[in-house]
Amino acid sequence: MSDFIEIVDVSPRDGLQSQPVLLSVEHKLELINRLIDAGVRSMEAVSFVNPKRVPQMADAEEVVRGLPQRGDVTFIGLVLNLRGFERAVACNIDEINCAVVASDTFNQRNQGATTEQTMGVIKEITREIQAAGINMGVTVSAAFGCPFEGEMPMEKVVRLVQRLAAMGYTDISLADTIGAAGPSDVAAMVRRIRTLEPALSLSCHFHNTRNTAVANTYAAIQEGVTSFDASCGGVGGCPFAPAATGNVATEDLLYMIHRMGLKTGIDINKIIETAKWLEGPLGTSMPAMLTRAGVFPA
Ligand code: ZN
Repeated sequence: MSDFIEIVDVSPRDGLQSQPVLLSVEHKLELINRLIDAGVRSMEAVSFVNPKRVPQMADAEEVVRGLPQRGDVTFIGLVLNLRGFERAVACNIDEINCAVVASDTFNQRNQGATTEQTMGVIKEITREIQAAGINMGVTVSAAFGCPFEGEMPMEKVVRLVQRLAAMGYTDISLADTIGAAGPSDVAAMVRRIRTLEPALSLSCHFHNTRNTAVANTYAAIQEGVTSFDASCGGVGGCPFAPAATGNVATEDLLYMIHRMGLKTGIDINKIIETAKWLEGPLGTSMPAMLTRAGVFPA
């Protein structure tokens, strides 16, 4: 087992997208630069989606134009359709992430299409991404439960993952969008997928809606997952899922991971400082435990 865990900080996109206060481009870039200074080397920076549906991301191009020019940080942009793909390519984003929701009802609310229709769109976009030679990843959302349809049958998610792997995806993320899973659900799903698709590099994206995200991360690490999305301060939510609270906080995951003797390359104190700073422009307090308690020993 490798002793390095990759943390992809998603606060600039998944974290901010449902915040009622619209941040300026300058504040978004300050957040991104602070994360880089803390040691984050991969982050979800923007999404290229309909600005009427997600006003916080309306300035995606401007944010990308202001990103620091350096080769050691990967900036990811979320894309849900061909129009988004074209915008992403036009501004030279490092990596494109697509997403499909495992349940039809949720996918309908999120993307205005059924799961099958979105799989068709992803197939089209994927050909374009591959032709353009851009790095790509894909997320299966609501993989552990849907706010509208309830429990998610594991085999439904597994089948989607296998179809995405067949399209050429090697990086696939399982997202617990509404924070429904417990550690045994995560272990069972990861084990099943790793048995069927051993070459796949799986990552996990947990929300802490029901306080299980840190335990779920532990379970996934035990099953060999080495890449996790998290959000500085735990800022986040989903504008299309009722009562979906924040992504698991980066600092809360870092504390556990570092206590396990594993490395992330990220300075937890700088993440805590960044979360505290972010409270200012957003006008809200962060749910992260570590931002309140601080590290131990101090
Ligand atoms: Zn999310």
